[in-house]
Amino acid sequence: MSANLASLMDLQDVDTLLDQLKHKREVLPERRSLADAMNVARSLDRQLADLTSQRDALVARQAELEAEIESATARVVMIERRLYGGEVSASRDLQAMSEEVDHLRSRRATLEDSELALMEDTEPLDAEIAKVSQLRSDVDAEITRISEALAVAEAGVDAQITEREGERHRLAEAMPQALLAEYERLRSRLGGEGAARLVGDSCTGCHLRMPATEVERIRRLPPGSFANCEQCGRIIVH
Ligand SMILES: [Zn+2]
Repeated sequence: MSANLASLMDLQDVDTLLDQLKHKREVLPERRSLADAMNVARSLDRQLADLTSQRDALVARQAELEAEIESATARVVMIERRLYGGEVSASRDLQAMSEEVDHLRSRRATLEDSELALMEDTEPLDAEIAKVSQLRSDVDAEITRISEALAVAEAGVDAQITEREGERHRLAEAMPQALLAEYERLRSRLGGEGAARLVGDSCTGCHLRMPATEVERIRRLPPGSFANCEQCGRIIVH
């Protein structure tokens, strides 16, 4: 085996390892856990938004009732002031005013009942909002924890990648340009494998057997020249 071909196979081995490391980096379990936790966070955010808008609608309705109650009270105070102020003496007017006060008081009681009912409806919503907010902040803490674990795991893989890339750089630099270019071209076309070994009479790239004459031809190639597998096209290292 020529030195160039030996280095080419070393390069292929490093590249395969680098591809594996890059894949490992993509599928780190921490990355999956982080995506899961973020999904949970998004779902809790949607629940919170929904609950909050329900609660806000009830609170807004309470404020409207409050204003109506206040205005009824103010009107009662005003009528009673006139009623007992001595300015009005006609008994028909006094009767009408007294009836309006009764009507306003009864309306105010109804409004107060409605307000109480609204406050009772708000309580379980407040409890639910508090519960979901707590879950949301627990998930936040979980996201922080997983993010830190992911950063540590990534740094571990990155250190291995950097080391292998240094190795790859040294191997690629020492290789004839034409051989390297052919390898890169095949590698990008053939799923990351541009070179394969000849083991017995089979190519380790496509696992197909070669005719004996072809094996013989490859074995007798002068140093510095190389052959491609007739089946898959990969550079054959022998
Ligand atoms: Zn092959």
